[in-house]
Amino acid sequence: MKKVLITGGAGFIGRHLADHLVRHGDYRVTVLDNESLGDRRHLDLDAVRFIKGDLRDREQLRAALTGQDAVVHLAADTRVMDSIEDPANNFENNVVGTFNLLELCRELGVPRVVAASTGGAILGDVPPPVHEEMAPRPTSPYGASKLMLEGYLSAYSAAFGVSGCALRFSNIYGPRSFHKGSVVAHFFKQILADQPLVVYGDGSQTRDYLFVGDLVAGITDAVESDAEGAYQLGSGHGTTINQLLDAMRSVTGLDLDVRYEDFRAGEVRDTWCRIEKARAGFGFDPATPLEDGLRTTWRWFTTAGR
Ligand code: UDP
Repeated sequence: MKKVLITGGAGFIGRHLADHLVRHGDYRVTVLDNESLGDRRHLDLDAVRFIKGDLRDREQLRAALTGQDAVVHLAADTRVMDSIEDPANNFENNVVGTFNLLELCRELGVPRVVAASTGGAILGDVPPPVHEEMAPRPTSPYGASKLMLEGYLSAYSAAFGVSGCALRFSNIYGPRSFHKGSVVAHFFKQILADQPLVVYGDGSQTRDYLFVGDLVAGITDAVESDAEGAYQLGSGHGTTINQLLDAMRSVTGLDLDVRYEDFRAGEVRDTWCRIEKARAGFGFDPATPLEDGLRTTWRWFTTAGR
C-alpha cells in the first residue's frame, strides 16, 4: 500500500483526489491543510487521515511527511489579484512553503513529489495552444511563485534525487466547487440565485475546461509514473464562453438570462493547451465531454449544493 500526502487536500481538487485514491484501494491518504479555504468536514474522515497544518511550520510538515511514499502538493495561494496586492504573503505561502516541503522530502527520503502548477500565469498572454516548450514570462507574483516551484522541483530531482513533476492545471470544474469563483461554479451559483449571467466581452474568449474527475485520474497516473518536468493538463481544446453557455442551457434546460459587458482589462483573451506531453508521459486521457461534466456538476449544485 502506497502512502500519499496531499497538501491543501481539503480544497476542491484535493477532496476529489483523496476520494479517487481511496477508491482505488491501494493508497493510504493523509491530508495536510491549514483550513484557510478548505474544510476537513468535506473529507471522508473514516478513510482519510487529516492533519491541520501549514507549510510554513516545518515541525507540522515533518510530522505529516514522515513515512510517506509520495506527496501531491496542492497547497498554495492561487489568487492572482491577492498576489499583486501582497506579494510577500504569496511568496511566504507558495515559495517558502514549497521550499520547506522539498527540503523535508530530501531529509526524510520521500521519493516522489507531484505539484500543482499553472500554464496561464507562468506564460502570460501567448497565442494558444499553450505548451511546455514556451518561454516563461510570469505577469504576477503568483505566476512567478509557480515558476519557482517548477525550478525547485527540477533542482531537487537533479541534485538530490527527489523525483518530481509539475502539472499545469487548466480551468477545472466539477461537483463540490461551490466556494470557487471560476466561471462554471460562478454561473451555476448565479442561476440558482436567479441572477443574470454577466459575460465579459462578446463571449468569444476561449478557455480550456477540464472536468475534475479527469484531472484527478491524471494526477494519480503522474504519481505512479517517474515523469519529471512540466506537463499541461487540460481538455486539449478551447471552448468559448458562448459555447459554454449553450452547454449550460442544454444541461439545465433553462433559458438563461445573459448580459454582455466590456471585456475585463488585462484579462487573457484566449488560452487552451496542448496535452500530448502528458499523454505520452503518463497516459493522461481526459475522456469527459464538456456537456457530460457540466451535467454532473449541475446535478451536484442542485442536490448536494455544498
Ligand atoms: N467570465 C465571464 N463572466 C464571469 C466570470 C468569468 O464572462 O462572470 C469569463 C472570463 O472573462 C474568462 C472566462 O470566463 O474569459 C474564465 O474565467 P475564470 O475566472 O473562470 O478563469 P480565468 O479567467 O482565470 O482563466
